[in-house]
Amino acid sequence: MPATAIASDALTKYEPVIGLEVHVQLLTATKAFCGCANRFGAEPNTNICPVCLGLPGALPVLNAKAVEFATLAALALNCQVRERSIFARKNYFYPDLPKGYQISQYDRPLAEHGWIEVPAADGGSKKIGITRVHMEEDAGKSLHEGFADSATRTYLDLNRCGTPLIEIVSEPDIRTPDEAFEYLTRLKEILLYTAVSDCNMEEGSLRCDANVSVRPRGQEKFGTKAEVKNVNSFRFIRAALEYEIERQAEVIESGGSVAQETRLWNSNEGRTYSMRSKEQAHDYRYFPEPDLPPLIVTPEFIAGIKAKLPELPEARRKRMIAEYELAEQDAHTLAASREFADRFEAAAKSARNPRRVANVLLNEVGGRLKALGLEQGQSPVSMAGIVLAADLLDEGKISSRQMKQLFDVCFEKGEDFGVVYERERPRQITDAAAIEKLVDEVIAANPRQVEQYRAGKKTMAGFFVGQVMRASHGQANPALLNELVVKKLEG
Ligand code: ADP
Ligand code: ZN
Ligand code: MG
Repeated sequence: MPATAIASDALTKYEPVIGLEVHVQLLTATKAFCGCANRFGAEPNTNICPVCLGLPGALPVLNAKAVEFATLAALALNCQVRERSIFARKNYFYPDLPKGYQISQYDRPLAEHGWIEVPAADGGSKKIGITRVHMEEDAGKSLHEGFADSATRTYLDLNRCGTPLIEIVSEPDIRTPDEAFEYLTRLKEILLYTAVSDCNMEEGSLRCDANVSVRPRGQEKFGTKAEVKNVNSFRFIRAALEYEIERQAEVIESGGSVAQETRLWNSNEGRTYSMRSKEQAHDYRYFPEPDLPPLIVTPEFIAGIKAKLPELPEARRKRMIAEYELAEQDAHTLAASREFADRFEAAAKSARNPRRVANVLLNEVGGRLKALGLEQGQSPVSMAGIVLAADLLDEGKISSRQMKQLFDVCFEKGEDFGVVYERERPRQITDAAAIEKLVDEVIAANPRQVEQYRAGKKTMAGFFVGQVMRASHGQANPALLNELVVKKLEG
């Protein structure tokens, strides 16, 4: 049964409580505690050394760049950075963790008390608290599939051992699967803006575990939570939470109680399965890492990183709306990526009307790219071409119908807008007398609409413009046409 929207009776009676734990790989050149390359997709077991393999006697040295990136991310997430944090060993046995422990942070994390703003269901916004951002290292990878003898053997790729991570733990402030989706979307945007990670879920550089419980509405005490792992897209996290909320509500409704356990999401079946109960849960026997001194970051260091913070997505959206008079939804789409917003802003500055540039970029070009399943980078139309189209439209040199036809040609032939415009530049009728003649004809043919216009229905002008445009095969100069229609109707 695929997970669908939550049954409404479950939600009227029960309130979901959700907290997310997100692991993010940092884009440093080398690993967290050794000089091995930190690179996805290398030949298995080529980027390894005694330190990241945990061979006896090898000692870790903290990567300063990882501290910089972690601090930058923490500040972007509105956290307070602790001047003195402590690395700890998190002990567990697993074949892809040859050291037998992971270096992490425990009771003295790098940063705490942050928040992310997400849109609220009532149209306003809501702050989701961030409990902590701490540094740790990744483990290797167990490969259970893809080999001839995978049915009987598991292969190990230890390249990922020692990759620097930050873990971002949210407060249990999230109340719906949609809010969880928004939180993750915003979190990813912010991290991409800071460029500390590429946040690629398919490659595992962003991973999320979702904690969820339900409680009867009105009850203050939280219910028992389940932790859902193994979910590899934000959409699936939303679906897994919807499934889990309904499952837990049903357990309680039928007189049972929710078990505290770890569950795995199965995207083919659209459901979660119990993986291990709390009784089998790990006791990680955390203790301070004896091979690393406390991590000290000075107020000067923190101030230096703060100065490197880019303008973040939410602030940028607000500024772009004010500066370019953009529609909220357009600003939202434009600011979703820093590169995209940069490209738009550079173009907008050279155009007559930035709002029109946004329209052409998102609707004409963006719409066609989406329909063809192409990325921005694969567009045949350059930003200069978009500005040209917007300017021509703005000056009334082409009609929006002509612009659409020109863009159709761009995408058919894989040519830029300027090239197509120069070659197929619509022959425009700019002769006022010729247009006037067409206007007269259309007015004569539509007495009822003329009457309506003169009775006060001014929007009828659009009807006449449309009719004349059609009669001119789309070639009447739009600015001139508009002017003449109004003049004739008023006259
Ligand atoms: P654990 O000790 O099981 O790891 P934590 O208290 O560290 O639990 O919390 C882990 C995550 O679970 C956090 O994101 C937190 O917000 C969330 N969380 C804690 N309690 C609940 C609950 N009752 N329901 C839903 N989420 C919860
Ligand atoms: Zn190494
Ligand atoms: Mg925990």
